[in-house]
Amino acid sequence: MTGASATRYASPWRTPEARRTYMSGALWLIGMVWLGLASYTHRAGWFQLRLDGPGLVLLTSALIGGWNFFPKALRGLGRYRLDMNFLMTIAIAGALLIGEPIEAAAIAALFSFVELLEAAAVVRARRAVEALVVLSPEEAALVAADGSEELVPTNSLQRGHVVRVRPGDRIPIDGVVRSGESEVDEASVTGESVPVAKARDSEVFAGTMVVQGFLEIEATTDAGNTTLDRIVKLVRQAEARKVPIEHVVERFARWYTPAVTGTALLVMIVPPLLGWGTNLEWFTRGLSLLVIACPCALVIATPVTVVSALTSAARNGVIIKGGEFLESLGATRAIAFDKTGTLTEGRLEVTDVIGFDGVSAEELLALAGPVEARSEHPIAEAVVRRWGGKVADGVTDFEALPGRGVTAMVNGHKVRVGTMALFPESAVPDGMQGLEEKGRTVILVGDESRILGLVAVADTVRANAAKTVRRLERMGMRHVVILTGDNAAAAGAVGEALGISDVRARLLPEQKVAAIENLVREYHGIAMVGDGVNDAPALATATVGIAMGGAGSPAAVETADVALMADDLTMLPYAIRVARLSRSLVRFNIAAALSLKLLLAIGAVAGVVDLLIAVLVGDMGASIVVTLNAMRLARLRASQ
Ligand code: ADP
Ligand code: MG
Repeated sequence: MTGASATRYASPWRTPEARRTYMSGALWLIGMVWLGLASYTHRAGWFQLRLDGPGLVLLTSALIGGWNFFPKALRGLGRYRLDMNFLMTIAIAGALLIGEPIEAAAIAALFSFVELLEAAAVVRARRAVEALVVLSPEEAALVAADGSEELVPTNSLQRGHVVRVRPGDRIPIDGVVRSGESEVDEASVTGESVPVAKARDSEVFAGTMVVQGFLEIEATTDAGNTTLDRIVKLVRQAEARKVPIEHVVERFARWYTPAVTGTALLVMIVPPLLGWGTNLEWFTRGLSLLVIACPCALVIATPVTVVSALTSAARNGVIIKGGEFLESLGATRAIAFDKTGTLTEGRLEVTDVIGFDGVSAEELLALAGPVEARSEHPIAEAVVRRWGGKVADGVTDFEALPGRGVTAMVNGHKVRVGTMALFPESAVPDGMQGLEEKGRTVILVGDESRILGLVAVADTVRANAAKTVRRLERMGMRHVVILTGDNAAAAGAVGEALGISDVRARLLPEQKVAAIENLVREYHGIAMVGDGVNDAPALATATVGIAMGGAGSPAAVETADVALMADDLTMLPYAIRVARLSRSLVRFNIAAALSLKLLLAIGAVAGVVDLLIAVLVGDMGASIVVTLNAMRLARLRASQ
C-alpha cells in the first residue's frame, strides 16, 4: 500500500481533456495571430462562417476544445439535466452560428483551461495528504533472529518484525523501541515541530524521522495499517463527504441553469421583436449571458476550499472527519472541556493512603490494587503504580461503573473502589473533605459492608492549558466550561488555575451528556474536548467532539469528529482557526462568485460585456481567486 497509494490520483495535466485543451488553445492563438490582432473581429453575420485559413484554424480549435463539453452535454440532456456542459455547447454553437469563430474558439479553449485548472486544484489538494504516506521509506532494514540485517520493501513488514532506523531516516512502521535512544521528529503525524525523546518501550510512528540517534524498533502493526495510513484513509473519507452548503449549491445549480437559459432565450428574442435592435446584436448578448451563467467557479469553490482545509489540517496533526465539522467548529462560540487527561496531564500520583480502624496503608493498597489493575482509568493506573503489584489471580466479577468506580470479588470477598456513590450505606469519612479541599481526588476503598480507607491522588494542570484558554477567549469564545466526574474542590482548583468560572463537578457520564445537550441549546452548538474513550457519549452529543492524543489512541480517533493527533492543547486554537478560515472562505467564494456573475450578467444584457471578457473575468478570474484562497489555508501553521 505504502508508496503505491501516492500515485492514486492521475496527473490532471495528461488526460485526453488536457490534450484537447492544449490543442484548442494553440489553434486559437494561431488563428488570432493569423487574422492579425488588429482585426479583432472576424464577424460575418448569421450563417456566414468565413472558412478562409484563419477561419478554419479557429473552427478546429472550437471543435477540439468543445469536444470536452459536447458528449457530457448530451449525456446530461439524456437525464434531463441542463448543466454547464450544455451551456458551453450552446455558447460555442451559437458563436459559430453568428459567424464569430474567434469567440467560439475562445470559449472552447479558455473554458477547457478553466476546467483543467479546477481539476488540478482539487487533485493538488488531495495529493497533499497522499504525500504523507510517501514519508514512509520504500525499504526497511529488517533484523533477522541472528542479528543480521536485510533490506526489505516496507510494505512486506509485519507485526513483530524488528527494524533498524538510522539518524536522518524515517521510521518505516508503527512500533515500540526495543533498543537505542533518539529524538524523533513527529511533525508528520502529530504536527508538533519539537522533536520528542524516545527510548526503550517508547511508541513510535511510521513516517516520523529519527533525528540523531539509532533505534531498533519492533513493529506493532502490519505495513499498510499504520497510524499514518489511517490518517490518510480518514482524510480521504472526509473529503468524499459533502458539506451541507454544497447540497444547497447543487440544488441551486439545478434550477439556476435552466432559468438562465430561459432568460438568455428571452434576451435573444424579445428586444428585437420590440424593435430595439438587430437580431444579431441581441443574440450575441444572450450568448454572453449563457457563458456568464456557467456556475463552475461557484461549484468548485466549496470542494476546493474544504479539501484544502482538511488536508492542511491533517498535515498539522489535526484530523477532521468531514467538511460539516469544519462548518460547525468554525461556527462554535462555546467549548466544554473534560478535566482529567484533557486540562490536566492525566498522569496522576497517589499523595495519601489512609486506612481506617487499624487497616494499614499496605493492606489498603493490596485490596484496591488487584481490582484497579483491571481498570483503564488514570486513577486506577496511579493506584496500581503505588501498590506495585502485578495483576493478581482471584479477582472475579470485575465491574466498572463509569463515573463512580470499580467493584470486584477478590478471593471471595467483595471490594469496592470509587466515589461515595459506591457506599450508599456509609457516611462521608473523616479526612476526606480536607483532602478534597486541597484539590485532591479522593477515592474510597471498602469491602461489602463498610469503608476501610481512602486514597488521594493529585494531577497537574497541563503547562499550556491556561495559555490555550486565554487564546480561545481572545478568539471570541463566549463560554468555556469544565465538565468532570471529579469532586467540586479538585475541579474548582483546576478552574481557578485556568480562569474558568463555569465548573460542573460530580457529573456521571449521563449527566455529562445532559449538560452538553443544555449547552448545545444555550449556545447554538458546542465543541467538547475529551479523551475520546471515557467521554465518548458526551463527545458524540456535542456539535463537534474533539479528542486529544490521537496518535497514541486509535479508539479516540475513531469516535471523535475531530482528532488532535498530538497530546497537546495548543492544537485546538489551530483547529478552530482552520475551520473558521475555511468557513469564511466558502462563504466569501460563493458570495463573490454570485455577485461577480450578476454584475457581468447585467453588463452582458446592456451590451458592455462581451464573450471574451465574460470568460476571462467571470471564470478564469473566479477560479484563480478560489485557488489562491485555498492556498491561504495550506499556509496556516499550528505554531502561529
Ligand atoms: P473525569 O470526568 O474527571 O474524567 P470520570 O467520570 O472518569 O472523571 O470519573 C469520575 C470519578 O469516579 C473519579 O473522580 C473517581 O472518583 C471515580 N472513579 C472512576 N473510575 C474509577 C476507578 N477506576 N477507580 C476509582 N475511582 C474511580
Ligand atoms: Mg475522563
